[in-house]
Amino acid sequence: MPELPEVETIRRGLEPHLGGRVLERVRILHPHVTGPRPGRDVARDLAGRRVIRLWRRGKYLVLDLEGTAAHPRPAHLVCHLRMTGRLTYLAPGARWREAAAHTHAALHLEGGGRVMFHDVRKFGRLLLVPPGELSPLLPRGRDPLVDGLDGADLALALAGRRSSLKALLLRQDLVAGLGNIYADEALHRAGLHPARRGGSLDGADCARLALAIHEVLGEALAAGGTTLLDYRDSAGRPGGFRVRLRVYGQAGRSCPSCGATIQARQLAGRTTAFCPRCQPDCV
Ligand SMILES: [Zn+2]
Repeated sequence: MPELPEVETIRRGLEPHLGGRVLERVRILHPHVTGPRPGRDVARDLAGRRVIRLWRRGKYLVLDLEGTAAHPRPAHLVCHLRMTGRLTYLAPGARWREAAAHTHAALHLEGGGRVMFHDVRKFGRLLLVPPGELSPLLPRGRDPLVDGLDGADLALALAGRRSSLKALLLRQDLVAGLGNIYADEALHRAGLHPARRGGSLDGADCARLALAIHEVLGEALAAGGTTLLDYRDSAGRPGGFRVRLRVYGQAGRSCPSCGATIQARQLAGRTTAFCPRCQPDCV
């Protein structure tokens, strides 16, 4: 599933093509993609709106849209890619080569160019909402890139909590944007066992974990994200961070820091990889 670095990579790729542009015509090809609102209604409502801004919170992308004569209220188009969603920009005249069965929406831009929404598993959504209905859709936790995240923020988020660090880092109401990959990678870099209780961390642990989260997100972003299978950026390119993963997906291999064998176990319902030597289970 795309996590913060992948969604931010897509946002940065789309911004020069979408910012300030008018959605001339929109086609919704599969009804489920617009949630409870019928796709045809959403397509009509979107047509003619200008994109003011494209921003991100956690794993969500949001397009701020101006009103039109037909629909004078401003609106937001909220996009969540879930498991396999992709947003791809096609320049004027470029051909779309993906299967029609997996192509769920096309946003045609005034003056040429299209943004295609493609999703094999069909869990991704494009929700059009008025301003008052936006915030309940978005994660409440701190987004490390947007809001900042330091040791004190983490100490506050984890205080008194008995759940495992892995479970807590996946909670989008605590830290927005981390998923299975970057939670495992950040815990390894911080030398913290994923099963350790959140409330057992001291100030130094929290500071180290906050730093590790920033490091791994920053490096993944610089590499254009991680492609395991489906993820592509807005130009259709895979991310380059996979070869730099230290523990995620590496069970049975040697830890790049100490040489011990990486282990995997189920935590919070997710396969969790860690190094038993670098990440001692001390609590
Ligand atoms: Zn190790």
